[in-house]
Amino acid sequence: MKLQTKLIHAGELRPRFAGAVIAPIFQSSTFEYAGQGRYEDLKYIRLNNTPNHVALGRVLAAAEGAQAALVTASGMAAISAALLTVLKAGDHLLAQECLYGGTHTFITGDLPGFGISFDFINAADPEDWRRKLRPNTRAIYVETMSNPLLQVPDHRKVVDFARSHGLVSMIDNTLASPVNFRPPELGYDVSLHSCTKYLNGHSDIVAGAVIGSTALIGRVNHKLIHLGGCLDPHACFLLERGIKTLALRMRAHNENGQRIAQFLARHPRVERVMYPGLNSHPDHRLASELFDGFGGLLSFELQGGAAAAQAFMQRLQIPIGAPSLGGVETLITRPATTSHSGIAPHDRARMGISDGLIRLAVGIEAVEDLLDDLSQALSIV
Ligand SMILES: *Cc1c(COP(=O)(O)O)cnc(C)c1O
Repeated sequence: MKLQTKLIHAGELRPRFAGAVIAPIFQSSTFEYAGQGRYEDLKYIRLNNTPNHVALGRVLAAAEGAQAALVTASGMAAISAALLTVLKAGDHLLAQECLYGGTHTFITGDLPGFGISFDFINAADPEDWRRKLRPNTRAIYVETMSNPLLQVPDHRKVVDFARSHGLVSMIDNTLASPVNFRPPELGYDVSLHSCTKYLNGHSDIVAGAVIGSTALIGRVNHKLIHLGGCLDPHACFLLERGIKTLALRMRAHNENGQRIAQFLARHPRVERVMYPGLNSHPDHRLASELFDGFGGLLSFELQGGAAAAQAFMQRLQIPIGAPSLGGVETLITRPATTSHSGIAPHDRARMGISDGLIRLAVGIEAVEDLLDDLSQALSIV
């Protein structure tokens, strides 16, 4: 089956409960004992095995061509549970240096307390990975595309490197979604998602997912049962509903993202635009080879820096000034004041994130309306 069909049907529970086309919300913490021998086979929400959890695991595994998947209470619950499953005291992690803020501070602030060491690597430079490899290195952790500059590591090289050194390869695939990229098909061991973003797509829940082999997902599940980061059944229902339209929504995000990036790149008041679908993006070729689409996230700088950016953002009518991404509505932020405000200004500058950099998470509104709005707001700066 094609991905569009899998996203709608792969998670269906059979037989259909009372004939209902849509699976009901099983709002029951516990389930009748049916002779299970193992604790983990008892049905209980925290064990991540109610019918709503099972359905989501199936559809997410099918979406990325993996054996198994499991959902979690947030993207960070997926990331922390997966890292704590793969790594134990004495182990060492190689992690991409420009990570999602929560992941970055989990690695730097929490892993050392568990006796786990790490080094940050330049994802564009495999020599750097080799130099930082240690005998106790167990895993390599990257993101499909970095936020907000959309840098793309060569994922084929990451998978090869992990294989040849016996490392677990882990990737946060949130920004691509399974529609634009399916890491397990390329050979990644663990694919992680903040389902809060594109997978749910409606900015109304937080949720996460871990996707991989049956054996590894079993181990992550065991860890998650202890950490307690299970997804609530009502959120399961909303996520399942969101996933059904993922293919349609991603097509619109990809198209709108491309059109808006091209518009901005041609605009005389815009200094630079970062979008992997533009020829001018340093990783455009790599992204074209690896991905089926470039998504809805882009960043840009205006002439006049932070002051111009602020004035421009205030003039916009449609985009909402809010962090996060992946919902149907367009959101806009200045990373220096939101996602990257915890990083010292000189470090931000070194990372290529100026104070005036604007991040646009393009939604699925009519692109003409978004372009008109951007155009009027640019006319005053
Ligand atoms: C939002 C996000 C996360 C964290 O997800 P939550 O659902 O907020 O816990 C992790 N990685 C990426 C790339 C994200 O965008």
